[in-house]
Amino acid sequence: MSEMNCEICGREIKGKGFKIVVEGSEVTVCGSCRQFGTEKKPSVASQQGARRVVLKKKRGSTKIEFTEELVENFHIIIRREREKRGWSQEQLAKKIQEKESLIKKIENAEITPEPEVVEKLEKLFNIKLREQVPEIKIEKSKSLVPTLGDVVVVKRKKK
Ligand SMILES: [Zn+2]
Repeated sequence: MSEMNCEICGREIKGKGFKIVVEGSEVTVCGSCRQFGTEKKPSVASQQGARRVVLKKKRGSTKIEFTEELVENFHIIIRREREKRGWSQEQLAKKIQEKESLIKKIENAEITPEPEVVEKLEKLFNIKLREQVPEIKIEKSKSLVPTLGDVVVVKRKKK
């Protein structure tokens, strides 16, 4: 409606003027000032507002995996199973071909037994020492630094 002035040199713009991007801000300028910025091509995204573009940014994906973990009181279970059978720690060690000191440490919860030892104990006692634990993994997108495109979008002011 009213006449427009170039946002760079201030001169009156004849005709429609040029929309360019200077340092992330969209400005309308005259023909001689259009060289100072990047020509802005109208796109669907810009017409719908800047927010849309920001939302398109890649986000991390979430997935759930199940891992086997030792039950919390595994050492108590092992001791109980052993004592139920009237075995000494040494006897148990021999049955699974491990050292007595290892059994002692396991039963005292000083160490977490290796998976193969756990397996042997599970078979020997016919029990389960592991449980399936859901693990939520969040894969972050590669870069947390906004891309140049995002910066432009965020800075741009609506007229
Ligand atoms: Zn100008």
